[in-house]
Amino acid sequence: MNRNKSDALFEKASKLIPGGVNSPVRSGKSVGTTPLFIQSAQGAEIIDADSNRYIDFVGSWGPMIVGHNHMAVISAVESALKRGLSFGASIDLEIELAGMIADAVPSIEMVRMVNSGTEATMSALRVARAATGRDVVVKFDGCYHGHADTLLVSAGSGVATQGIPGSPGVPEDIIRKTLSLPYNDADAVHRIFDKFGRDIACVIVEPVAGNMGMVAPDTAFLETLREETRRHGSILIFDEVMSGFRVAYGGAQERYGVIPDMTCLGKIIGGGMPVGVYGGSAELMRHVAPEGNVYQAGTLAGNPLAMAAGIATLTLLNKDGVYESLEATATRLVEGLRNAASEAGIAVQAHSVGAMLGLFFTDTPVRDFETAKTSDLDRFAAYYRQMLENGIYLAPSQFEAVFVSTTHTADHIDQTVAAAKNVMKTL
Ligand code: PLP
Repeated sequence: MNRNKSDALFEKASKLIPGGVNSPVRSGKSVGTTPLFIQSAQGAEIIDADSNRYIDFVGSWGPMIVGHNHMAVISAVESALKRGLSFGASIDLEIELAGMIADAVPSIEMVRMVNSGTEATMSALRVARAATGRDVVVKFDGCYHGHADTLLVSAGSGVATQGIPGSPGVPEDIIRKTLSLPYNDADAVHRIFDKFGRDIACVIVEPVAGNMGMVAPDTAFLETLREETRRHGSILIFDEVMSGFRVAYGGAQERYGVIPDMTCLGKIIGGGMPVGVYGGSAELMRHVAPEGNVYQAGTLAGNPLAMAAGIATLTLLNKDGVYESLEATATRLVEGLRNAASEAGIAVQAHSVGAMLGLFFTDTPVRDFETAKTSDLDRFAAYYRQMLENGIYLAPSQFEAVFVSTTHTADHIDQTVAAAKNVMKTL
């Protein structure tokens, strides 16, 4: 495949933007490639600057669950566009999206719209700390919750890909307030609450982890989080920025029947526009200014175009059979990848939850960050590069999830599996 135009653009970008990318996860450094520059996308397919066409399993890192350029989403945005780009004032669309989210997500009565997942988790922590009068935050190794200082401890996603344990620039004092435990380890949760329960403001978790590759939770682990936080008066925060509206319409909390105190959302609820949300019971959310005294604000929060794209996307998702069909697509892909690996005599762990999946090159069952890291990263890099050559666009890191959309057809999946069969034989 010729990538001359992408390469030339990357060279220019590298002089103006650190690493040539506006988010480190886009860099192909860990897999020995340079980023593609994108020209356009339609449905499940994405086209680069050199007019190469790929089947896209990144979906803008999750938001594009109804496919790229969906007519209903585009026309909703066009209608909003005609009213104006931004007013920094209240609009009807904010109420409509807030209502759809509150109807869908069991833990949410009230929401505050923000502009990114990072802002959502950062603000949820502030509410939790204010409501409890405590400082300590418990998180889990390999979970990524955006780049707020408190949460950049043993984070997954780009932090794991670049092999950065914490981050320079985050003060030691802040790191001391964050305790990071192994994912899916209920005993570790019991122990930490026995020891520090009275100081713990909140536990924040990806209820389906997607930032160390995709790792499914044990229901008992999520239930333990619910019990221990309740017993000790701590707030349980589900970071459903990735899993929200992806593993079920009501997110992981609907799927696993464990209801947190607060929920963070992003990605899908903005349909591809910048957005984030944090929400919970009215009692908790009334701490937020101007009703309460926890300060949080945003010039562009509740932006009309983002609200319109979100409403249109959720409307498309809230129809009979959508999640069954997404799940069937993900299952078909997982089974195909397992068969491809087994034909090639390669050990893999492949699994899906709803419309997201993970593939690890290891014979160790993957249930936390330690076991995710047993994946053969060189093998993943070779797999990534060759899949790209075969027209399959994956996230350039072992520690990211694979996303399917309603526009991935059986044909797209079968083409992907056929490519994987050829590629895996060479690994
Ligand atoms: N939380 C989770 C679970 C995420 O996956 C991400 C981003 O990938 C974030 C938070 C941060 O969201 P954003 O990149 O919109 O700041």
